[in-house]
Amino acid sequence: LGRLYGPLTAMSNVQVDIMTALVSFERVLEVLDLEPTVAEKPGALDLRAAVTNRGAGVELDHVTFRYPRADEVSLASLESVATVREDPSSTTLRDVTFSVPAGSMVALVGPSGAGKTTISQLVVRLYDPTSGAVRIAGQDLRDVTADSLRATVGVVSQEAHLFHDTVAENLRYARPDATDAELHRALGQARIADLVARMPEGLDTVVGDRGYRLSGGERQRLAIARLLLKAPDVVVLDEATAHLDSESEAAVQAALDEALSGRTSLVIAHRLSTVRAADSIVVLDDGEVVEQGTHAELLASSGLYAELYRTQFDLDDSSSS
Ligand code: ATP
Repeated sequence: LGRLYGPLTAMSNVQVDIMTALVSFERVLEVLDLEPTVAEKPGALDLRAAVTNRGAGVELDHVTFRYPRADEVSLASLESVATVREDPSSTTLRDVTFSVPAGSMVALVGPSGAGKTTISQLVVRLYDPTSGAVRIAGQDLRDVTADSLRATVGVVSQEAHLFHDTVAENLRYARPDATDAELHRALGQARIADLVARMPEGLDTVVGDRGYRLSGGERQRLAIARLLLKAPDVVVLDEATAHLDSESEAAVQAALDEALSGRTSLVIAHRLSTVRAADSIVVLDDGEVVEQGTHAELLASSGLYAELYRTQFDLDDSSSS
């Protein structure tokens, strides 16, 4: 029995190590809204170096994509099996080609189910395209390291995830070595500094489910502060559809303007002010790009965009004119 016991103990230690690693990895992924389903290839390159040389343009090149069937998902990503939905044979994206030049903003619009979220998932390499390529700074994402991709692309989703931890720790998930002065600066830029100053213990106040209660708009601004600390070259933003009160809305918008300024951004747009401000709008329908242009160009061509404009965008949006 002794002979058996030794190796078993060793194995269970390995398991504990793996579990510890997985738990911390998951916490990081939660911040980034990612679940890994693809592996880094041996000899992968550092994306940051390419970005420094060329600027962080994003390019989808003839991308076709079908979600993997449950039986195709490898053991390493067992958790994602639960998220794979029915109708495995359908192709979600067909021959999608467009680019987001470095420093510009492209808005993605289209009816529900058109494939907007799927595109954002390919840009953070949650999945690889079935055919075609996604590139940042000219590098195929299949060739770059996971760490450098994570450092290059920041995600802001509709639901801001906060840990049950202090404001400071929530922010430092983005950059563990950030000083308090840097945290305060990011909070100021994200238009949430005043609130944190009023909290009972300032930066050391515990927020999250059982901590200091934050409204939806406040959670979003804290998530934006975290993004500003991370300072990614590329931002993927899923604009909130839920209505905030108008004061929160204005504060969140100011925080987002700060966060997107000077960065390459791909925005799943729900607001009229966003599509008007975008350098280009890509209109998706049923997995295909059906139109692309500026707000004025697309309205003039009286296609799907013009129809969506009337039905989907918040026409009460006061910043439009
Ligand atoms: P919405 O505006 O409603 O969020 P969307 O344009 O973002 O829609 P996607 O979420 O990208 O659309 O979905 C595109 C298609 O892919 C839909 O038919 C959807 O059912 C399918 N789909 C999305 N996620 C998965 C998944 N994990 N597994 C299988 N199919 C999926």
